Amino acid sequence: MANPSFVMQKVLDVSFEDRPIPKLISPRDVRIEIKQTGICGSDVHYYTHGAIGSFIVKAPMVLGHESAGIVAEVGPEVTSLKVGDRVALEPGVPCRFCDHCKAGKYNLCADMKFAATPPYDGTLCRYYVLPDDFCVKLPDNVSLEEGALVEPLSVAVHVTKLADVQVGSTAIIFGAGPVGLLCCAVAKAFGATTVVAVDLVQSRLDLALDLAATHSYVPQKGDSAADSAAKIIAMLGGKQPDFAIDASGAGASVNTAIHVLKQGGNYVQAGMGAPEISFPITEFTVKEITARGSFRYGPGDYQLAVALVASGKVDVKKLITHRVKFEEAEEAFKLVLKGQGVKILIEGPAAPAA
Ligand SMILES: [Zn+2]
Ligand SMILES: [Zn+2]
Repeated sequence: MANPSFVMQKVLDVSFEDRPIPKLISPRDVRIEIKQTGICGSDVHYYTHGAIGSFIVKAPMVLGHESAGIVAEVGPEVTSLKVGDRVALEPGVPCRFCDHCKAGKYNLCADMKFAATPPYDGTLCRYYVLPDDFCVKLPDNVSLEEGALVEPLSVAVHVTKLADVQVGSTAIIFGAGPVGLLCCAVAKAFGATTVVAVDLVQSRLDLALDLAATHSYVPQKGDSAADSAAKIIAMLGGKQPDFAIDASGAGASVNTAIHVLKQGGNYVQAGMGAPEISFPITEFTVKEITARGSFRYGPGDYQLAVALVASGKVDVKKLITHRVKFEEAEEAFKLVLKGQGVKILIEGPAAPAA
């Protein structure tokens, strides 16, 4: 096959197809040979539901968007990269022309072409084309496996920047899935000296503690949000967190976060769960909490994520629990569906025979 691709045909129906090798369109385009791809919650959600909100899979679509690879071809105007360079792929390319793009908030661009978000094909294939400024070169000490984790790490960088986490502060992160775990690490890298991870699953909290968290908490059955908040504050010796990030999307977490935050604290929503929840509006108001949403990543987030890995401040390798070959991509999706593993990497496809 010239360009083997892992294609979702319809819900729970995937197959391998030989797609044409994509051509460079702009003189600034780069063709990348994909080497490592992480599976994300969104990929699995399309696989099982065929849609996320208004994004609906209507035609066969290549899955995957968390990839790293090796540059195989560069357009005539590319000066920053050469064939053979190892890069992390930023999988969403905005229009570059709208008000959001011009304001430097390209993650809000309505014309974003994002890998494996319908109708755009993803990166679980041999060759993928991107503009050179959406390929971030990996330093020699960052592996391609780590490069595939730059995508979720960039999500965490964006969230933690929006939270405005300060040196010496206390941050609490709800949800210890990949993004929540990485938020713990980024909050610590940004200078938080106390990092609390909250999740229902002890093994995930153990990983959070290993990665960056200083404290962990498992919410108890029957406790209200106010009860949980009181127990967390007691665990912290009476200190209330300055910053809260929800990476779970669970209503109980959102409510506990608002109850646990100190007066004037910052709250950022990153997790997506039920589209509507009840919200403790009085507590929120009288504490004068600042709350923001966070979506994907923007200028500089990928570069900072690579720097955090290269400098050893965030050890993304600790998240990798499974590795499978490209031919076993469907197994990887089934593992995620069973709730197994934290980050599953798909290697390949193998290089074409010379
Ligand atoms: Zn992702
Ligand atoms: Zn735009």
